[in-house]
Amino acid sequence: MTERTFSIIKPDATRRNLTGAINAVIEAAGLRIVAQRRVKLTDAQAKTFYEVHAERPFYGELVGQMTAEPVVVQVLEGDNAMAKYREVMGATNPKDAAEGTIRKLFALSIGENSVHGSDSLENAAIEIAQFFKAEDIVG
Ligand code: GDP
Repeated sequence: MTERTFSIIKPDATRRNLTGAINAVIEAAGLRIVAQRRVKLTDAQAKTFYEVHAERPFYGELVGQMTAEPVVVQVLEGDNAMAKYREVMGATNPKDAAEGTIRKLFALSIGENSVHGSDSLENAAIEIAQFFKAEDIVG
């Protein structure tokens, strides 16, 4: 089934000029980038986005990292896009990530792990709506 999922290329990756390299992995996996925008997240945007982690010990660090430098927010479209992108991203901790995944290739640590991808279709819809208007997504 054709789905849409939400992706963020995180500051550790934009800082190292890896946007194109990461997009190449995404496209090679058969996912289409149907919306994309570079943005510097505000503290409020990052806190809202990661609200589910508010009680976790790394929350402050995570919000700090996500607002430090620009990110690239994206909508990815394709067959089974949500689960497929989770596979292409690799495990949260790059030490556990499979060969060829974005996090194995590029991530620095569990915190600076280069990309975000929605973990359910329900969250994908919420996350997409936080950053994109319907008319800005061209499939
Ligand atoms: P994901 O869905 O694979 O991104 O992982 P989670 O939803 O569990 O965590 C969200 C994000 O929080 C991760 O991508 C990391 O950037 C960060 N994170 C998760 N666990 C840790 C941790 O133990 N330490 C730090 N510093 N960051 C973490």
